[in-house]
Amino acid sequence: MKIKGTCHRCGRDFLVEQILQNGGVCPWDGKPFQPNYAVVLVDALRDAENAGNTLENALEKLADLEPEFVLHADTVLDAQRRDLERLERVHGESR
Ligand SMILES: [Zn+2]
Repeated sequence: MKIKGTCHRCGRDFLVEQILQNGGVCPWDGKPFQPNYAVVLVDALRDAENAGNTLENALEKLADLEPEFVLHADTVLDAQRRDLERLERVHGESR
């Protein structure tokens, strides 16, 4: 899973992968995204990326199996969407 984000400061897009490699700084302006909790930030981004990959693979496998059921997309996506929207709100308020 290639999770993408946008920097508050410079407005440029980045891949989470880049942030994992450089220890939590914006690859464009070189400043930390969260100076006080860089390790927590990087760990959480790594967890999100890994969990995303795991979920993606599991769902692909399930679809390939063509089982006699359907999964409710909202039960998989709603919690994630809620927190992502929370990030967007924090973004908006800090401007
Ligand atoms: Zn930036």
